[in-house]
Amino acid sequence: MSATQGSDLRPKFWDLPLASLNEAEWEALCDRCGRCCLHKLQDEEDNQVYFTDVVCRLFDVKSGGCSDYANRREQIEDCLSIRNAGVDVYACLPLTCAYRLRHENQPLPSWHPLLAGDTRLMQVAGIRIGKQVVSEDQVDVSDLEERIIAWVEA
Ligand code: SF4
Repeated sequence: MSATQGSDLRPKFWDLPLASLNEAEWEALCDRCGRCCLHKLQDEEDNQVYFTDVVCRLFDVKSGGCSDYANRREQIEDCLSIRNAGVDVYACLPLTCAYRLRHENQPLPSWHPLLAGDTRLMQVAGIRIGKQVVSEDQVDVSDLEERIIAWVEA
């Protein structure tokens, strides 16, 4: 069964304004790329956000997702609820993030699983962080500038 067949998911809900989405639609909009779980640095002068290849300790590299999604905010002090964080949070999300795109009134990319039907195109486009990351437990996080990398922005 595809995600769009769930009883709480309206047809083409991803085209609706973010504020009108129900909880199931909001969760289904996430493509599970994992990029919001990366450590980021922000330039104090121009607010530019730089992504690194260092990921939250709760991120399970093998499964490609959070190992404790339900309790993540109790465990990780600065893990945000995007929905409740206020509009400034969108600028800190990757350009490919479905929440950022819809906040900016842009359509989902054609590789998004909701449009493509599965994650194959997303994999081909290189959107998921997959195994290209290292856990924050394994690096010196005071040295993050050395770990800045450019992720695909397809
Ligand atoms: S960056 Fe956006 S789409 Fe990707 S996992 Fe995070 S919330 Fe979901």
